[in-house]
Amino acid sequence: MAARHDPIIGIDLGTTNSVVAIVVDGQPRVLDEAGEKLLPSVVGINPQGQLVTGVAARNQLAAFPDRTVASIKRRMGSMDPVTLGDQTFTPPEISAMILRRLRDRASRAIGQPVNRAVITVPAFFDENQRQATREAASLAGLTVERIINEPTAATLVYHAGSHDRKQIAVYDFGGGTFDVSIVRMEAGVIEVLSSRGDVHLGGDDLDQVLVKRVADQFQAEHGVNLRENAQARYRLWQACELAKRQLSTAETVQIVEEFIAEKAGQPLHLTATVTRAEFEELIEPFVSRTIQSLDEALREAALTIHQLDDLVLVGGSTRIPLVEERLREEFLREPSRAVDPDLAVALGAAVQAAMIEGCSVGPVLVDVTGHTLGIEAYAGMTFAGPHLVFSPIIHRNMPLPARYEQAYSTLSDDQDAVDIHVLQGERPEAHRNQSIGRFRLNLETGGGNRSKIVVRFDLTLDGTLKVTATQPATGLSQVLTIDNALSRFQADERNRAEARLEAMFSESDELLDEEDRSFRNQWRAEGAEQEEAAAGPVSETAESRFPEAVALLKKAESLATSVESADAQDLKSLCANLKNAMTDGDPLAVAGLSAELDDLLFYVR
Ligand code: AMP
Repeated sequence: MAARHDPIIGIDLGTTNSVVAIVVDGQPRVLDEAGEKLLPSVVGINPQGQLVTGVAARNQLAAFPDRTVASIKRRMGSMDPVTLGDQTFTPPEISAMILRRLRDRASRAIGQPVNRAVITVPAFFDENQRQATREAASLAGLTVERIINEPTAATLVYHAGSHDRKQIAVYDFGGGTFDVSIVRMEAGVIEVLSSRGDVHLGGDDLDQVLVKRVADQFQAEHGVNLRENAQARYRLWQACELAKRQLSTAETVQIVEEFIAEKAGQPLHLTATVTRAEFEELIEPFVSRTIQSLDEALREAALTIHQLDDLVLVGGSTRIPLVEERLREEFLREPSRAVDPDLAVALGAAVQAAMIEGCSVGPVLVDVTGHTLGIEAYAGMTFAGPHLVFSPIIHRNMPLPARYEQAYSTLSDDQDAVDIHVLQGERPEAHRNQSIGRFRLNLETGGGNRSKIVVRFDLTLDGTLKVTATQPATGLSQVLTIDNALSRFQADERNRAEARLEAMFSESDELLDEEDRSFRNQWRAEGAEQEEAAAGPVSETAESRFPEAVALLKKAESLATSVESADAQDLKSLCANLKNAMTDGDPLAVAGLSAELDDLLFYVR
């Protein structure tokens, strides 16, 4: 790295982990230590009386809780003493030890002394807490060039250099805290309009529900409560935290901890299986609370979700598929999550630091999937035949390489094969996406139950997609490898594909009976109508299926001429989306969009 005069580093001083970054050649980069980018925000005194920070301190947390401190960020701004063994410290002194380690890491990585930093703090930090952060930096030998809000930093990662007026929600779900901020960016200046959160809601709480579920099962099986023994409790927590992370990409995990306890002189081993569906049910109340906070933050900023230009995901817990799914449903678009959510805040701090230094910063380069990849799935019968939907497995904008699994079931008990039809695209109906591969998995029948099928997608950096379908009960499995999955579906190609499908659709009309034909004609007529006039009337069928949505649309149409032009545009596209959802017969999308429209009407009235 070329030496530069008194460089400024960006620091995310986090509750669970801290990160340091710097801009090099116009690109923000995280500075690591032996490959480790995250520094656990933990400080301790080891049995030899030496100061330890990071992983070493975290490793002694269970064995020496009275000599170790984690989550000091929660205590910044208070003067409560922190005891480590026989010594006491102030919270800024503890934070200074973490900052000192990050400063040393940066100096080593860039090969020159570092004395200046931009440090991030939560938007809700008061002046006292910000002052304590400045003191910590000063104790660590760092001059604070600027303290910036974490949502501001995350916004900078995705929108640095943009001068357009934008309204962005930053949803930050970390290990110990959750907060969501609505920011406005105008002429390069970022202002936090509102911020809501819960300082006692984080990934740790999700670990705890899993700990409870596994410990309760163990107690029922062996009559031993693992939570009563500090060592067992710690091992259980570690295993559950790992299982939680694995469940972000796997459908099922096995938790195995040998010799975790003993009973009547006999060792006891822990073995538990947890499925993603079960985990999602356990954490659903927490996720709902975060969505409520998002709604509150929007209300406080006097905005609707529809007026947001972007939704930025920050914090490790945003990797949980349920979190992303709920946000996608709320936002009705893909949230921004291309940058590693653990690193986004530090990278943004580095962007701010470079701006202070007068360096130009380009957009952050990341490899992401350009299109959603998934399979065709059956979603019930309509009078026109089976309703086949697109079931996404890897969503658009996911960083590469990506690996995700999804579980399905067969339609009937005695089904002896399943067809896996791999699709690429963004449309809810299967046939409106591009087909990129197809294969069959033969199954073993018996047992009188529907078979569970797990489909895994592995997408590499060079665009090779490996699709694996497995029947877990028997281990039967089949693999399909598709080359160039990333480049297959360019925009013009997609248009051609759609036109071709549309043509095939008309041709196949000859084969349909009268009832099917009228359904399809109606479908096509509605589709054409939507292209022409977004606010046109909806069909009889939609009217009878979704009467509330129709009433809302009528209200929206009556207001369309009397609202401000920016709102009118929003109103028009929301109406068009709602009509699309009604045409597609997608009750979830209709409910979501109706709520949106209701919200918007409330504000424009
Ligand atoms: P942060 O404070 O942003 O570093 O977030 C740390 C939290 O994110 C911890 O609770 C981790 O367990 C959680 N986390 C990290 N990676 C994942 C993942 N892949 N799936 C679920 N949670 C994760």
